[in-house]
Amino acid sequence: MKVGVLGLQGAFREQVETLEALGADATIVKTPEQFGAVDAIVVPGGESTTMDKLLDSSGLRTPLRDALRDGMPALAVCAGLIVLAAEVLDGRADQQPLGVIDVTVRRNGYGRQRDSFEADLDVAGLDGGPFPGVFIRAPVIDRVGAGIEVLATHGGAPVLGRHGAVLFATFHPELAGDLRVHELFLKGS
Ligand code: GLN
Repeated sequence: MKVGVLGLQGAFREQVETLEALGADATIVKTPEQFGAVDAIVVPGGESTTMDKLLDSSGLRTPLRDALRDGMPALAVCAGLIVLAAEVLDGRADQQPLGVIDVTVRRNGYGRQRDSFEADLDVAGLDGGPFPGVFIRAPVIDRVGAGIEVLATHGGAPVLGRHGAVLFATFHPELAGDLRVHELFLKGS
């Protein structure tokens, strides 16, 4: 199985390194042709408003949305979660989330005081103790739809979950020095 990492913007190299550390065949995706050659996709953290624009200029918006709606396995991290969400609060006016993950997210929802922090997370079904969550200007999930399985919360809000074949995190598992969330993604995909 070939795992693509959307490489339009943001922390995509760290995703490739993490996947390779687990022995996965990972490749950076910047064009529809490259996207056509992968079986699963990681949408990394970065800046969702920029990624949103680049989805249009790269021609990837429609193929990505269609593949995800058809059940392509995915891991969406932070800005990647915002890009795939059903609804975005405090986004840019013309930001058009893909509507693949049935959640409402508030961009930069932790505000300035706590815009970056770490927190130990208890993840349902994950052996080996808490997962070190690295949150960087993270979104807060305000609402989850009925089809969402919540795997971890922080301060009462979901921070890790699944919608069908899409695993999503508001934190950055690729910066944790802990491979277990990516392992979960690879196992499920
Ligand atoms: N605040 C960023 C955004 O709105 C997300 C930050 C991140 O991906 N670490 O897109």
